[in-house]
Amino acid sequence: MRVPFIAGNWKMHKTIEEAVALAKELVAKVRDNVQKKVMIAPPFTALYAVSSVLKGSAVFLGAQNMAAAEKGAHTGEISVHMLKDVGVSYVIIGHSERRHVYGENDQLINKKVKLALSKDLNVILCVGETLEERERGIAEKVVEEQLVNGLQGVESKELTFVTIAYEPVWAIGTGKTATPEDADAMHVYIRKVITNLYDKAAAAVLTIQYGGSVKPNNIKELMAKDNIDGALVGGASLESDTFLPIIQFNNGDAE
Ligand code: PEP
Repeated sequence: MRVPFIAGNWKMHKTIEEAVALAKELVAKVRDNVQKKVMIAPPFTALYAVSSVLKGSAVFLGAQNMAAAEKGAHTGEISVHMLKDVGVSYVIIGHSERRHVYGENDQLINKKVKLALSKDLNVILCVGETLEERERGIAEKVVEEQLVNGLQGVESKELTFVTIAYEPVWAIGTGKTATPEDADAMHVYIRKVITNLYDKAAAAVLTIQYGGSVKPNNIKELMAKDNIDGALVGGASLESDTFLPIIQFNNGDAE
């Protein structure tokens, strides 16, 4: 069974004080018995402080990125050991802003994925096509390549620690959401690629999140689709007023 997985990516927002305040609100409302997984990825500077707020709660701590190298002369980078040291259990790798603004390619992303998994960190691997790629009819090909390259060398037993986030680049932060049907169709395609790379059983248990302008008013219809198992949420995860209704999309399991 795939447990719904709602993750918030706070990007380059929030001071330590603001991050702690929001984390406290979420912890108070998201209970242990929530039949979902919830994660937040604050900026690096707030990880340590937020980590102590989340201790013993039902909310997991995530990081937005990590270095491809384990340690050494890498000015400005944050290592997998540093993330684990502050209590991070998930790392987002290959977010479209890393790919398209900071030039990260599949090879670098694959290095990060393998390093994170080798150190027992859960990975959210982001994939997704640009608008131009969708219009050219190559969305599936692009996503397939990102999966094949990003997961190269990842063994099937490690795949259980990987979540895929399908985030069409044109839907991120734009207010444009893929229709639930289009998103579901790509999720089906992702399962097909995973079946080819691994096997049917691995594809069946793989959690695939949708990301791209997820809001309280569209989460329910997205989550109603068979192959959409969760959401990676940017803008709407920055305030409890918008993030809590997304976490509680089907009501009844949290206040
Ligand atoms: C994201 O940052 O991964 C994202 C999907 O952002 P937004 O929800 O703001 O589109």
